[in-house]
Amino acid sequence: MFFITEILEAVSAFWLLLFLGDFASTFIYHVPEHAFGRLHCRIHHEKKQTFQHYAVLSKHPLVMLDGLLGALPYILIAVVLWPLSPTGTVIGLLFGEFHVVWRHTTKMGWSTPTWAASLCRALFVVTPEEHWRHHENGAIAFGDIFTFFNKPAKRWLQMLTEQKRQLRCYNNTQNR
Ligand SMILES: [Zn+2]
Ligand SMILES: [Zn+2]
Repeated sequence: MFFITEILEAVSAFWLLLFLGDFASTFIYHVPEHAFGRLHCRIHHEKKQTFQHYAVLSKHPLVMLDGLLGALPYILIAVVLWPLSPTGTVIGLLFGEFHVVWRHTTKMGWSTPTWAASLCRALFVVTPEEHWRHHENGAIAFGDIFTFFNKPAKRWLQMLTEQKRQLRCYNNTQNR
């Protein structure tokens, strides 16, 4: 019985880490960066870069900074989830890191096997092909790990872009 409880806690910590981490990373860092920032768009959406660059395996300081800022919510949530299950939290962090590398393998010409794509679709997990759509058009295909964050993220981007436009209009009238 004790063993089953431990497994349930580990599975909960694993999914909670990925769900809350992707939620916070998407809505607090990724989408606001697309609306207001420069770092993510300049570095992660730079054309004609290497697989290592996109997969945050490069030692370039700006690549590492963008990767760290995107990963920070996962790290903070891992601290909160640690008492629930250290094992589930660690496996969640390892899966998150694996997914960063895997979702950029399109750059190497890899394609996802049909069985893996079907499994991802059933679990609402982003495939490399889906993530690559975001690289080609930074206004679509949000959610680094889960596809269901795409719709609300696009809405969030529209709202922030509108805020930016209104702020610009306000500043222009003030400066006249
Ligand atoms: Zn990417
Ligand atoms: Zn992006």
